[in-house]
Amino acid sequence: MRHGADLDSLDGRQQQQRFTCWHCGTELIWGNDFDMEDINDGEESDYDFYSTFTCPKCESYTEVFHKCQ
Ligand SMILES: [Zn+2]
Repeated sequence: MRHGADLDSLDGRQQQQRFTCWHCGTELIWGNDFDMEDINDGEESDYDFYSTFTCPKCESYTEVFHKCQ
């Protein structure tokens, strides 16, 4: 039985998280999600997708890899 928003947040991919820039602390802008299957041409990977973020202030670029579950 599901109740509340706690379980919904476990779905992962749709989860909206806020990341701040490692260098200047500005909130990063989410860019895209990429499927590892597309990148690796079907090869096995420890990660199933990754997301890209950019900093609007110092233009740092961040990739966050999501581990397979
Ligand atoms: Zn920054």
